[in-house]
Amino acid sequence: MTENRPVKPQAGRHNLDPHLDRYAARTAGMTASEIRALFAVASRPEVVSLAGGMPNLAALPLDTLSAQVAEIIVDEGLVALQYGSAHGIPTLRDQICEIMALEGIKAHPDDVVVTVGSQMGLDMVTRLFCDPGDIVIAEGPSYVGALGSFAAYQAKVVHVAMDDQGLVPDGLREALRQAEKTGRRVKFLYTIPNFHNPAGVTLAVERRAEIVEICREHGVLIVEDNPYGLLGFDGQTYPALRSIDPENVVYLGSFSKTFASGLRVGWVLAPHAVREKLVLAAESATLCPPTFNQMIVSRYLATHDWKGQIKKFRENYRERRDAMISALNQYLPPGCSWTMPEGGFYVWVTVPEGVDTKAMLPRAVTARVAYASGTGFYADGYGSRQMRLSYCYPTPERIREGVRRLAAVLESEMDL
Ligand code: PMP
Repeated sequence: MTENRPVKPQAGRHNLDPHLDRYAARTAGMTASEIRALFAVASRPEVVSLAGGMPNLAALPLDTLSAQVAEIIVDEGLVALQYGSAHGIPTLRDQICEIMALEGIKAHPDDVVVTVGSQMGLDMVTRLFCDPGDIVIAEGPSYVGALGSFAAYQAKVVHVAMDDQGLVPDGLREALRQAEKTGRRVKFLYTIPNFHNPAGVTLAVERRAEIVEICREHGVLIVEDNPYGLLGFDGQTYPALRSIDPENVVYLGSFSKTFASGLRVGWVLAPHAVREKLVLAAESATLCPPTFNQMIVSRYLATHDWKGQIKKFRENYRERRDAMISALNQYLPPGCSWTMPEGGFYVWVTVPEGVDTKAMLPRAVTARVAYASGTGFYADGYGSRQMRLSYCYPTPERIREGVRRLAAVLESEMDL
């Protein structure tokens, strides 16, 4: 993927804040994500939002869930509403191991730490490993929430290019060589191998062992973030990097995309040696993940056909992906290109030279369509010729209409 290099905007500290001289130095890296800033406008009903990454929960069996929640209160209310351990409840950790086995992972439940979504896992892992100035290698583009965590701990992100087969191994080698020359420590490779957010691509199976080997050779840990792995449109799954090298991979999982994002239940599977520190970090962050929510997830997994449910989600997303790809083919002007996701939520679009997706966004919103500009997915200001389009939430009709509006804005932009 090629991209031009706009000037990086400076973090927005303004002098109206009387607390300005009190903040810790690390807050300089904390800036509002471009995507969050968009939420307010993009959620107006007349705007077709292709910007957010909200899972579509319409297929959830709400009646069954409501009965299960009531049962938890009746059967185990005093446990469910009490503090629990920072490690997470044992039954859920067993079930999580069964889920990870679908991607070839053999794990002991003691090495699983339940988190408040995988976002908390990202924060904890960065807290454990990164001192200010340390390098984190990440795909370019990368998940905006991960970039936020890295910035909050003042880690420096070095991006590695992807192609339609995912992270490019030679790019990784080169980035590691360059990073080592700077004298800074490279702490880990952060990677989203399956149905990438935002790029929509999947790391080719043939590349997986190679990536693992490169990181081993360079003494660099891998942080594998896999919230979309079970959302392959053909039901296909891929061997997790963690299954190849258990001692050198921290794996992050989540129930946000396969069950319910609002419950905020995710997990970290750490190498055994790291687990204790992780539990301590979790304890200091939240004391424990919510017992009640863990029990909801656990009972749901034990009593409901959760694989059948994921299949329904996948079918929903596939229909929306198809609607988006056919609309892109039909409406987008020549010179645009995009990735072809085989699962997950996102398409990554590259627009012709001269169009700046960040500058164009207010005009798109006026034309009642929103997207996420590519610049939010890079730590270094790249991405102004890219945008992320999410097809997960709107109906297929709205997706088609959104792409039609977007195409009209792009065309007028190209005429300028
Ligand atoms: N990683 C990736 C790649 C994501 O896309 C997301 C959510 N959009 C997360 C982590 C965080 O997910 P959660 O905290 O809901 O588990």
